[in-house]
Amino acid sequence: MKKQSQRSPKKIATTWELKRLFENDDDPKIEKNTKTVEQKNHAFINKWKNRKDYLNDPAVLKKALDEYEALKKNYGTDGDAGYYFWLRTQIDRNNTDLKAKYNKIEEFSRKLENEVQFFHLRIARIPKARQAVFLKYPGLKKYRHFLERIFAEAQYMLGENEEKILNLKTATSYSNWVRMTSDFLAKEERKVLLEDGSSAVKTLSEISSLTYSKNRKVRDIAAAAFNAIMEQHVDVAEVEVNSILANKKVDDELRKVARPDLLRHISDDVESEVVDSLVKAVSDRFHISADYYKLKSRLLGVKRLRYHERNVEIGDIDLLYPYEKSIKLIYTVFNRLDSKFTEILTEFIENSQFDVHPRKGKGSGAFCVHHLIAQPTYILLNHTDKLRDVLTLAHELGHGVNNELIREKQNALNFGTPTSTAEVASTFMEDFVLQEILREADDELKFSIMVMKLNDDVSTIFRQIACYTFEQELHQEFRQKGYLSKQEIGKLFQKHMAAYMGDFVEQSKGSENWWVYWNHIRYFFYVYSYAGGLLISKSLQNSVKKDPGFIHKVKGFLAAGLSDSPKNIFGNLGINIADKSFWDKGLDEIEALLEETTSLAKKLGKI
Ligand SMILES: [Zn+2]
Repeated sequence: MKKQSQRSPKKIATTWELKRLFENDDDPKIEKNTKTVEQKNHAFINKWKNRKDYLNDPAVLKKALDEYEALKKNYGTDGDAGYYFWLRTQIDRNNTDLKAKYNKIEEFSRKLENEVQFFHLRIARIPKARQAVFLKYPGLKKYRHFLERIFAEAQYMLGENEEKILNLKTATSYSNWVRMTSDFLAKEERKVLLEDGSSAVKTLSEISSLTYSKNRKVRDIAAAAFNAIMEQHVDVAEVEVNSILANKKVDDELRKVARPDLLRHISDDVESEVVDSLVKAVSDRFHISADYYKLKSRLLGVKRLRYHERNVEIGDIDLLYPYEKSIKLIYTVFNRLDSKFTEILTEFIENSQFDVHPRKGKGSGAFCVHHLIAQPTYILLNHTDKLRDVLTLAHELGHGVNNELIREKQNALNFGTPTSTAEVASTFMEDFVLQEILREADDELKFSIMVMKLNDDVSTIFRQIACYTFEQELHQEFRQKGYLSKQEIGKLFQKHMAAYMGDFVEQSKGSENWWVYWNHIRYFFYVYSYAGGLLISKSLQNSVKKDPGFIHKVKGFLAAGLSDSPKNIFGNLGINIADKSFWDKGLDEIEALLEETTSLAKKLGKI
């Protein structure tokens, strides 16, 4: 084993080195690679397309899956060229030549995908009794959960023709409706007051950010504009939401799905009992978010916050974190946690897997990306030396560490993370880095950072769970009544918002319509995963703080990828995530932060 934890990297590059894929955009190897991808896929298709034996004999299925895995590992349906050109378009968005090259390879990939998907579809249609034989067959052990995932989704699939019809009617019965409301909202503009005292016409998302302003006049004018826009579109949204609720009900009935959120759980590879225990644990402790808003109202010197004031920023954070300083800081934190993490960071830096600074033509935001298991991870940032930027770096590195740990242990069919736990590693690293920053900060700065953190955690955990229970009741009520008026939807919305916000946030006039722009509810039940991911991460942090040796279990979980459901992966490590006490450990972390922030506010004379 190489020990690299003591070594820090010499040169720090700040742009991607893509030579591990291709020399440049015109590298002759690109065409060769694409040809190979086509040949390999066709070889697989020609060999298996007309056979049925792999659907009956587990030993033959193992052989087929071994070949399928090798195909997915090195070639996929777009090989290195798809990844290369996708990455290139991310840092050179206005280059139409690149866009054309990427589109071509994408079209090529889609065709191949259509040809090769027979394999997946036929496995999905293996009858139940035979599924059990396959799942028990020792030779298929490394593909067991891959098969389980396919079988679980297949359980609610209808016949081929019915699926085709459902698919064809999606646009008219679902997506066109959703697009209508969001297109109407996207066209809206209003004249509002800006921070510098001037007025200007702004879009809905800009107006939404202005409601967080520290300047009361700015945020109040923004909120009034926001309310006016919601009011204008609420009648249309009422019909839209009723239509997509009806469509979901019809689909669920046809598929014989027992509860509206079940298909979401299956596609996220999470058992309903795990989500239920998460929702219960968080709802039982809504007093934490209520207490946070109580503190916030005292900090702002008001009796109660108005609905739009819940995200108002407090304090100033003017620390500067140039890129090299950020990397050093993360090094220190990683090193303390586990030398494996620093080893991965060193490799990322030495192989120039970061694209760091904003520049013309580069996309905004940040991401960590992987594609085939045989290809390197890349991280894109828009680092501008702010505190948020160092946290983003830690966050994306968390994803990167996760990828590398999975790559070492898993096959290509288990390479990845289910949505339900995709954000565990990222928020885990982010929080530990933040703690390091707090350690060095003076009280005033510490206070500002802690309030920022609490605001984020409350929004991610408590608000998302309140949104989830709102969705649950929305579907239930609709199924009982057959139609819900805008007033009924608004009432339901306010009930669930009040539940987590408590008595120190007013459900102000106009806020009953804020569900109109809430896109989450149109995509059904995925918001629990924000809360779940962060709370798993916090529960693990809690255990690592008590016992640094626990990091081995964290690494075990992170390396498991898609090899089993999160519940079973944790179960093998002796942790039961269907047990409420697991979630409570994570909630303890937030409660402790709230208590610390409250006493610091007192010490500093702020309340
Ligand atoms: Zn993330």
